[in-house]
Amino acid sequence: MTTLYALAYLLAAILFILGLRQLSSPRTARNGNYTAAAGMVIALGATVPQLHFTGAGAVIVLVGVLVGASVGTIGARQVKMTAIPQMVALFNGAGGGAAALVAVSELLTFGSHPPINEALPSVFSIVIGSVSFAGSLVAFAKLQELMTGTPITYPGQQLVNGLIAAAIIGFVIAVLAIASIPFSFLSLMVLALILGVAFVLPIGGADMPVVISLLNAFTGLAVAASGFTLNNFALIVAGTLVGASGSLLTKLMSDAMGRSLRNVLFGAFGQVRTTAGAAAGKEGRSVRTSSIEDLATLLAYSRRVIIVPGYGLAVAQAQHAVRELADLLEKKGVEVDYAIHPVAGRMPGHMNVLLAEANVPYEQLKEMDEINDEFKDADVVLVVGANDVVNPAARTSPGSPIFGMPILNADEAKNIVFLKRSMRPGFAGIDNDLLYDPKTIMLFGDAKDSLTKLVNAVKAA
Ligand code: NDP
Repeated sequence: MTTLYALAYLLAAILFILGLRQLSSPRTARNGNYTAAAGMVIALGATVPQLHFTGAGAVIVLVGVLVGASVGTIGARQVKMTAIPQMVALFNGAGGGAAALVAVSELLTFGSHPPINEALPSVFSIVIGSVSFAGSLVAFAKLQELMTGTPITYPGQQLVNGLIAAAIIGFVIAVLAIASIPFSFLSLMVLALILGVAFVLPIGGADMPVVISLLNAFTGLAVAASGFTLNNFALIVAGTLVGASGSLLTKLMSDAMGRSLRNVLFGAFGQVRTTAGAAAGKEGRSVRTSSIEDLATLLAYSRRVIIVPGYGLAVAQAQHAVRELADLLEKKGVEVDYAIHPVAGRMPGHMNVLLAEANVPYEQLKEMDEINDEFKDADVVLVVGANDVVNPAARTSPGSPIFGMPILNADEAKNIVFLKRSMRPGFAGIDNDLLYDPKTIMLFGDAKDSLTKLVNAVKAA
């Protein structure tokens, strides 16, 4: 029987790895989810019988599985595409919190002097899992706009956080070397929760993608540590995969932002940023607008059009409309591509997922590095609900929260058309000079409405 369970875990691990592999391309990502979910079902199927629960214990496990599966299924089905990042933050936090609680319950069973091989992963799990839980809740609140999304800083913040970290180290030593009593590891948990909140508060604006993937990696590591505590192979493998892929994603995201991880995590410390000044519009400067008909003519008679999708495309659910416009232009002989910025939208791969839903051909989706030299040859750049990812402040304003982030070279095109509802800034909360560029034409309105009007006008052009 033990061999059978081991084989089931091995199969689950293979399916996790295959699933992760498939998730790396939008073409196979949907199947990747199914593959990894099948792995999880097998892992659960092999774990539950080993618990040998009877009576009340079995009922609790069953209720837990039912409640968890229902919340997961209903949550995933009902959540709006634009709210997926918050949902991911919430579920990620739940994973970290669960790992921490498992570690606490294990320590409780070992009495005051647990063996070091049990205490070490448990303590690791409590600290990292609690930081991830509390940090993810703050990230959720920021993304859901329950609190300000900009960095929250105060004088002496670095010192306060340093003291919390020092107190955590003190309690870790106490639990490992002196005595593991409920007071010591519960205090450890509370301090780690406070650190989680304190660590995410000063991160905000355009840096959120990095912190979300870092918290994801934390949860993975906490889960892997739980696997060592519980002696569960599937948890070790799944946690390590999440920890490793989350760490790689964190590195990729901070590279995409043109920042070091250290700068993302500690960059806002010590400087009290206010957004009011940054977000204020540039009164007195005028912007250029145009009629739908003139824009349709400009597009229809272009040789090359590059579409830059952003978060507003997801809000407007305009992915089908943008594809219809692109198809129409291609039929008229226009070369159309989509330029995908790595942090466009509100989650990694957001634009790829959205455009894949509308069956946009993958060969038309060009990554930033691939297309950035081609903007100068474009007759029109159609910026659909994007803002920060084309904001030249990233190159020119050292004080800006996006300074250093590589952007799409939309400003190099012959004409720039922005589809957005107002002059409001994007996620980073800063004004965008490109909106005032003489080459720029603003088409105000919901992106889906504007695209639908453009489609009709191009048909008539
Ligand atoms: P931005 O948030 O910079 O801009 C989105 C723009 O869309 C806004 O200016 C808004 O203007 C417009 N918009 C919103 N709704 C609509 C609508 N219905 N129709 C038309 N326009 C609309 O988005 P970007 O994609 O350019 O940049 C992403 C930002 O999010 C970056 O700062 C990134 O760091 C951050 N981020 C990214 C994450 C990721 O993993 N990808 C995670 C968390 C944050 P208006 O209100 O005037 O319409």
